[in-house]
Amino acid sequence: MLFIGPPGAGKGTQAALVAHRLGVPHVSTGEMFREHVSRGTDLGRRVAAIMEAGEYVPDEVTVAMLEDRINQPDAENGFILDGFPRTAGQVCSLDALIGAHGLDRVVVFDVPEEELVRRLASRGRADDSEETILNRLAVYTEQTQPLLDIYDGRGVTVVVDGVGEVDVVTARILHALEEGLSEVPT
Ligand code: AMP
Repeated sequence: MLFIGPPGAGKGTQAALVAHRLGVPHVSTGEMFREHVSRGTDLGRRVAAIMEAGEYVPDEVTVAMLEDRINQPDAENGFILDGFPRTAGQVCSLDALIGAHGLDRVVVFDVPEEELVRRLASRGRADDSEETILNRLAVYTEQTQPLLDIYDGRGVTVVVDGVGEVDVVTARILHALEEGLSEVPT
């Protein structure tokens, strides 16, 4: 299953909560990169400036790290991807890794842009400066938003209203997941 949405939509928070509820690992490529940066690894040194500018890390780097993670034994029975895939190339790589039918559900977060900017500005992360926020939103619109059409075409997306209290949004997601694939086009 994967959670997709613009920066500030709350997908990280929700992915952690839902993963805990479902007993599967929460796999966040952004968290993994931040850990590398704070540990000062080679990879961390490679990606720090990219992240600070709000750009995307090259696909081959991201995919290799993701592949390692989902091959861990704890991911054997499923996982929640948060922040991956973000590019069309990453969609292809994920299909190659788990099969086009391996993805059971794509949860799409719907949050208006003014709310995103407000949330990001109050979060205080290293890549949450005003300039970077605007760039991250632009990069999302250009490179990641088109992926919604790909997954929509596969009939696996559920759109969740991401505005509201954290536990209300979690309940909406769990409810949407329980509803089955009622949105599969016929
Ligand atoms: P996130 O925590 O998901 O907002 O990710 C923080 C930053 O990590 C992003 O702005 C990118 O610079 C980088 N990043 C995380 N996931 C990916 C990905 N799938 N592809 C490319 N860059 C990524």
